[in-house]
Amino acid sequence: MMRQYELVERVQKYDPKANEALLNRAYVYAMKAHGHQKRASGDPYFSHPLEVAAILTDLKLDDATVATALLHDVIEDTDATRAEIDQLFGPEIGALVDGLTKIKRLDLVSKQTEQAENFRKLLIAISTDIRVLLVKLADRLHNMRTLEHMKPGSRQRISEETLDIYAPLAGRMGMQAIRDELEDHAFRWLHPEAYKAVTDKLAELRAKNEGLVEEIEGALKAKLVEAGIDASVSGREKKPYSIWRKMTNKQISLEQLSDIYAFRLTAKDIADCYRALGVAHTTWRAVPGRFKDYISTPKQNNYQSIHTTVVGPRHQRVELQIRTHLMHQVAEYGVAAHALYKDMTKGAIAAGSMTSLDDKEHGPYVWLRRMVETLLEGSNPEEFLEHTKLELFQDQVFCFTPKGRLIALPRGATPLDFAYAVHTDVGNAAVGAYVNGRHVPIDTRLRNGDEVEIRTSKGHVPPAAWESLCVTGRAQSAIRRAAREAVRRQYVELGRRLASAAFDAARVTYSDDAVKRVLSKFSQKSIDELLAAVARGELPAGDVLKAVAPEAVQAAAQSVLENPLKGWLDLTKVSGLRVRAPAPGAPTGQLSSAIALRGLKDDVPVIFEEGGAVPGDRIVGVLEPGAGIRIFQIHSPQLQAYEHQRWIDMSWDIDPEKQERFPARLSVTAPNRPGALAAIADVIGGAEGNIDNLKMIRRASDFTELRIEVEVFDLAHLNRIIAGLRQTDIVSKVERVFE
Ligand code: MN
Repeated sequence: MMRQYELVERVQKYDPKANEALLNRAYVYAMKAHGHQKRASGDPYFSHPLEVAAILTDLKLDDATVATALLHDVIEDTDATRAEIDQLFGPEIGALVDGLTKIKRLDLVSKQTEQAENFRKLLIAISTDIRVLLVKLADRLHNMRTLEHMKPGSRQRISEETLDIYAPLAGRMGMQAIRDELEDHAFRWLHPEAYKAVTDKLAELRAKNEGLVEEIEGALKAKLVEAGIDASVSGREKKPYSIWRKMTNKQISLEQLSDIYAFRLTAKDIADCYRALGVAHTTWRAVPGRFKDYISTPKQNNYQSIHTTVVGPRHQRVELQIRTHLMHQVAEYGVAAHALYKDMTKGAIAAGSMTSLDDKEHGPYVWLRRMVETLLEGSNPEEFLEHTKLELFQDQVFCFTPKGRLIALPRGATPLDFAYAVHTDVGNAAVGAYVNGRHVPIDTRLRNGDEVEIRTSKGHVPPAAWESLCVTGRAQSAIRRAAREAVRRQYVELGRRLASAAFDAARVTYSDDAVKRVLSKFSQKSIDELLAAVARGELPAGDVLKAVAPEAVQAAAQSVLENPLKGWLDLTKVSGLRVRAPAPGAPTGQLSSAIALRGLKDDVPVIFEEGGAVPGDRIVGVLEPGAGIRIFQIHSPQLQAYEHQRWIDMSWDIDPEKQERFPARLSVTAPNRPGALAAIADVIGGAEGNIDNLKMIRRASDFTELRIEVEVFDLAHLNRIIAGLRQTDIVSKVERVFE
């Protein structure tokens, strides 16, 4: 294990002004905090943060980053707290360690990495400082280096996550060396056979091509010197994972694989790069289609290089990368490389397209943040300078399902948006939400890293008003669609009931198939449309019957006349149809109130008629074309105005839990006596009836008839009130009336 002074010396080597006391304190604190904890390898746990710190010293990072590396696991894995870190090491390091703790907790949640892009964005959104990501990459690198000690299942999961998330992240940050190493470790554990095949093949080619690297290097160097170009040449073998990826992408076999060598020419400036390219192309034949100039057109991550492939001295394809020293540093160490160059070479930077990086420093790493921002947003270099803060993905929030699937949503999104983002079916059935295990309102605003669990209920239809609880278009249009669909389904089902009733009355067996055969007669495209037309009253059910079984119609009419109530329908058996009372606080006094059907918004097909039916009453519906179903108490005189054929039997379907009230109408005749009205009101009130309206109908010299609208729970309740009134000596007559 690296000693305390060794670590300090490593940092001081590249940064003589580094805070030695800080590094010492972090070293001792982390070592004590981890105490006797052991890694899977059996090593003391502290060896891990120490190695992570060492990796970061290779990248020549500042003392705060190195101290953070030492402390990166203490909050999550030991008794240490954020407050303690703040107190001992200052809020800057406290915030860095806190960022790493948050990422570590995310790792525990993310069991699936299918949405790697979103996960990377989440990492960046949570890492308010680029140094958090640098420490995280170093942390992952060390864990990959020591993965052999983990159980096979963990090895698999960690390797997949590395390939999906961390290696590409390193690549986007321009840290190629770290990316290569992460990939090769992951490759080894995920595809052990392929790994072995590729490394064996590499060994074979290496033996066969013995001396080739030196030969090419020597030839190139000689030509460069001849041309007076000051450049260094180094050859290397490509990495097993990049070879394997090429094999799987381009579907070439291991046998066909030949260009496994890549040479790098590093020159002092851009002019020499192009001259060196000229030398290479005149020495060996260039392979067509393989030339790419990333110096004049840098990649999104600011990678700059000229790429070409030539046919080398042994007829071997050889890849060449030509770049300046600075470009090389950036390619190898990415954002970290800029730290190295921060204080030097403004001239060298100006030579490339990195001019903007160092322009105006507002503090350490400001330009680093800008850079990462640009990398991840993929914006062009011109926009580069306009970004000043590391407010990445402020317009997005990233949440998890309980199974660890990551869902990206716009800021302000609610669990309802989340549910629809998971699946439309989940959204439609959503009735409640748990965020991080806590039951929350469904319109709660979600935050980064929230774990959201949606409670669903089968057959639930989202109320149309929920549209306003969502911010995503997907959820809003799905809710509108669901509401429309619910209305449509109800009409179709109602139409089917009405048609069946007509068929039953004529002793004809109803079937959808029979009706389908007559669709064209009514110019209807589908049976659903036809049935909905029946329900809306646009198409009489009798006409459908007549089309299907003309001979039965006459008999049907006769049968209905003889026995009008036969074959009544129970509409509660129609799925989704529920008759409900007016909402509490709705305008009273008006006796005809529209009753909303569950899930219906604008089309309200159920209307309670004057005369008041209360639960327990037998009720009858009459379909009124274009209006809906009017509901009547069976003794209501208005009902008698409709032909019996049009009667639809209804039964109550109310929620007893809700204690809804329904208006009934009483005729009370009482002698004219002071206080009579108050006494009547007392009796009704004492029996828990609400007087809604009261009207005097006839005033004789000694008697008054009152029409009283009273709101009751049901028929039994109404009867108790009537009995109560009859028991008193203040009234002479009490009757229920319907007009
Ligand atoms: Mn760690």
